[in-house]
Amino acid sequence: MSTTVNTATADRLIEQQRHEWPMCGRNFDALQQVRVKELQLPGVTFKVQFNPGRIASSGAKVDAKAIAERPCFLCERNRPDVQRGIDVEGRYTLLVNPFPIFPRHLTIPDNTHTPQRIAGRITDILALAAALDGYVIFYNGPRCGASAPDHMHFQAGNADFLSLPAAVDKAPQETVATEGTATLKLCTALPVRTFVIDAARAADAEALFGRLLAAMPVREGDEEAMMNVLAMARPHGTMRLIVIPRKRHRPSFYGTEGPGCMLISPASVDLGGVIITPREADFESVTAADIMRLIDECCLNEQEINNIARNVH
Ligand SMILES: [Zn+2]
Repeated sequence: MSTTVNTATADRLIEQQRHEWPMCGRNFDALQQVRVKELQLPGVTFKVQFNPGRIASSGAKVDAKAIAERPCFLCERNRPDVQRGIDVEGRYTLLVNPFPIFPRHLTIPDNTHTPQRIAGRITDILALAAALDGYVIFYNGPRCGASAPDHMHFQAGNADFLSLPAAVDKAPQETVATEGTATLKLCTALPVRTFVIDAARAADAEALFGRLLAAMPVREGDEEAMMNVLAMARPHGTMRLIVIPRKRHRPSFYGTEGPGCMLISPASVDLGGVIITPREADFESVTAADIMRLIDECCLNEQEINNIARNVH
């Protein structure tokens, strides 16, 4: 996939939409005053962002019935007239996310209403990462934070915003497999355990990712192994995928009522180092221990991720 989309056209779209779409403009403006605190986890600093605009996403009902009953907000016919997009090769549309977390935040839906699946899309996400230098492109699995699990989409935000990629860069990694220019490594030194694929050619990354995907367990009732994926351009024209395998959609303490309940629904951004709390009480009370518990419950332990690595053929 080659594309005429680039960082300048994406940045310009954000500026235009902020001015011509009042709700979008207000939400981006509000982000500048948003409260943030830092929590130190082993090897990586997490930020917590109090972002009331995200209540609809964090509190979203994503069961099949609720999804079937609502008009899909990513389908062109349901989008507000004021929301403009940039075509990406007739296959995707670059949109501004009107409920931003990042100072620059994009949503990139497929042009057809087709389920959220990553298989066969690695060359696409890497092409977007190469075209949108300075952005991290990310994928939330259908039960891993996607608020439209029925409509395939990526998102993008400022590359320097998430703390996990830099921490992964510094952490020890163990080579698991190679394919052409691509290398698959395992990183278990951080609380969020990940696979890392580095490649010079997207096709090699896609082939190696396919081998990883085949080794990841698919839970009963699911159609895809649970995961979040981050993609980014690297120096010297190489590209990187960070794959975060998951085992649970939301932590046991997810909710709005009862002692210890917090409305935190982890997706790529949260596990990438920026925890979103739409409720102020959760922002005030959440501790590093709570985030470690969330990671323990939703991500893989060392044995579980090692089992996947051993099954990559
Ligand atoms: Zn749709």
